[in-house]
Amino acid sequence: MARIVMKFGGTSVADIKLIRNVARHVKRETDAGHEVAVVVSAMAGTTNQLIAWTQESAPLNDLREYDAVIASGEQVTAGLLALALQAEGVNARSWMGWQIPIMTDDAHGSARITGIDNTGLIKALKQGQVAVIAGFQGIASSNRIATLGRGGSDTSAVAIAAAVKANRCDIYTDVDGVYTTDPRIEPKARRLSKVAFEEMLEMASLGAKVLQVRSVELAMMHKISTFVRSSFDTPELPEILKNAPGTLICNEEEIVEQHIVTGIAFAKDEAQVSLRRLVDKPGISAAIFSALAEENINVDMIVQNVSEHGAKTDLTFTVPSSDLNKAVKILERNREDMTFESLQAEGGLSKVSIIGIGMRNHAGVAAVAFKALAEKGINIRAITTSEIKISILIDSAYTELAVRTLHSVYFLDKI
Ligand code: ASP
Ligand code: MG
Repeated sequence: MARIVMKFGGTSVADIKLIRNVARHVKRETDAGHEVAVVVSAMAGTTNQLIAWTQESAPLNDLREYDAVIASGEQVTAGLLALALQAEGVNARSWMGWQIPIMTDDAHGSARITGIDNTGLIKALKQGQVAVIAGFQGIASSNRIATLGRGGSDTSAVAIAAAVKANRCDIYTDVDGVYTTDPRIEPKARRLSKVAFEEMLEMASLGAKVLQVRSVELAMMHKISTFVRSSFDTPELPEILKNAPGTLICNEEEIVEQHIVTGIAFAKDEAQVSLRRLVDKPGISAAIFSALAEENINVDMIVQNVSEHGAKTDLTFTVPSSDLNKAVKILERNREDMTFESLQAEGGLSKVSIIGIGMRNHAGVAAVAFKALAEKGINIRAITTSEIKISILIDSAYTELAVRTLHSVYFLDKI
């Protein structure tokens, strides 16, 4: 007997028929004798609709009320699934974030979980009752409902798994796992049977939207093996019972067959800002990036050159396209302190990244990429690397070509 957390995303609970299908997935596990906690998202499209209503009611709305509204989507699904489970003869009840409670900080709209009281849940699980938990929500110290940011029910699920010491956290979604790249761009993309936490963290941060980034951080921290699989499988098929297709996100030691490159991720809608001829002295970068951080602008790639005579240098960084105008305004306003002579800004860019823990021990991975891209005539604007990742900035028009080229040059294509 194991204790499992099962999480179902919006498309998996999009209508009542699908919710009944989810109930069958849950029943399969309880029939096998497992203790089960289920975390649910809002029905597909619901959260967007709720957000639109808050905006229509008041353009600059109070985030505490925004949370009160958008947390309601998950409440509906939790109740409906509990009902569907009861109809299947499974003992089940719904739990809202505040009833557990899942405690959060006061950052409404993108709160962080600060603690979970597991007492009630564990008691219910031990009594053989399925706990159907509304994802995405918790309660802030001010006693108000808080939500965890878009995609936050993944984080709810992993946090619950850690809190109740679950053996497994299964994330059911509309795809059957994590792929070497987006199959809509490269049909030859393969499903990965295992991905290391660190790789998944990079892939999630870089645009593979299967999991919320925070959920991967949390899984890595608490070593929660997380299995991504599809909810659209017929729950009781023998092959599903035996070995459901999916991707296990786990410790790298558990991955026997390691590849140098695991996947290619990409993010469109990037913008580049270049500041020319800055004074090369301590404190300038600090001034620039503090000013941007204060206004909540998420800076990503940062490239600074070594100045020729220790006098002036150039600095390039990227921000999401949607933040470009705001970033330029902040920089222009502080031009004196930041000391740059000119500013160039450009949108319409993409960041393509090559990810793999195997890179740590292999030379020449970057050279292979640069050569392949050069052969396709793709110009690289900026490059950044980490131990397990190489990111390049290119014009958006070449995104698909670059992704496919890199996917094949590292032999990630389906055999
Ligand atoms: N319903 C929320 C959203 O759409 C949370 C989630 O589904 O994970 O972002
Ligand atoms: Mg999601």
